[in-house]
Amino acid sequence: MQLKVILLGTASAMPTYERGLSSTAIVRGGEVMLFDVGEGAQRNFLKSGIGTNRRMKVFITHMHSDHCVGLLGLLQTMSLQNRNMPMQLYGPEQINDFIHNNMKLLNFGFTFPITINTVSEGIVVEESDYVIKAKLANHSIKSYSYCMEERERPGIFYPEKAKTLGIPEGNLWHKLQQGEDIEFNDKIIKSEEVTGPKRNGRKIGISGDTRPDDNLIEFFHDCDLLIFDSTYTDEHKEKAKDNMHSTAREAATLAVKSNVRKIILSHFSARYEDINLLAKEAMEIHSNVVAAEDLLTIEVPYDQ
Ligand SMILES: [Zn+2]
Repeated sequence: MQLKVILLGTASAMPTYERGLSSTAIVRGGEVMLFDVGEGAQRNFLKSGIGTNRRMKVFITHMHSDHCVGLLGLLQTMSLQNRNMPMQLYGPEQINDFIHNNMKLLNFGFTFPITINTVSEGIVVEESDYVIKAKLANHSIKSYSYCMEERERPGIFYPEKAKTLGIPEGNLWHKLQQGEDIEFNDKIIKSEEVTGPKRNGRKIGISGDTRPDDNLIEFFHDCDLLIFDSTYTDEHKEKAKDNMHSTAREAATLAVKSNVRKIILSHFSARYEDINLLAKEAMEIHSNVVAAEDLLTIEVPYDQ
């Protein structure tokens, strides 16, 4: 199944000419998972071509305006376009009041059903083939980091083994390939008899605003891709501490400790004209660093 990440907004606090406020989309097969919707994020959402009437879940990391205010506009646009697919929204407890109070004040409604869920640490979403987990980040207000983790996939299918067992090609093969056990000639044939060892799914982490911390090292362990708060350069590392953000070097250091395959630096302070400086500092620590740009799309392949 195709899995990609689209960076929709990569600035911190204030937008710049080139960068919008925080928003990241994971597109997995036919489903979209949107993490944060900063003010104006809907413009890049539209440019990305994701589409406004898709199976979709939205996750808010925290209630700072550069991470959640854009939700109102995005949801209104979706209603103007007559979205009818249900949507699930997840975030800190204030997200419910935020939506309902604004609906009253601004006098709007939705054309689609929306379920609002309060997040706490642990498993937030459980689907048959993936889970979304949340972990408290280390920021100036309650803030969550999220991980999308695919479940293990069945191993490689060996047709010769199925043939040796006399199982006819077709539906039974398909079931075995999908990891299901079958009944054949009054015998149970286990999928693992005709497949190799189970294969890892993919794991994507999104830090939201945070200082690096030990809980997050564990939470993001073995991520194929991690998008991490990289607001500052080394020069402003004291500011990073004071404002409860991270430097690019700190992000890369955490990624090494977490055995993360690829790290995307994002959430850049508007003071930096040249983002290469942040990338350079991170590359001294981690060998697979990408500095985010708005609308950058990154495919996440299986590791085997
Ligand atoms: Zn914040």
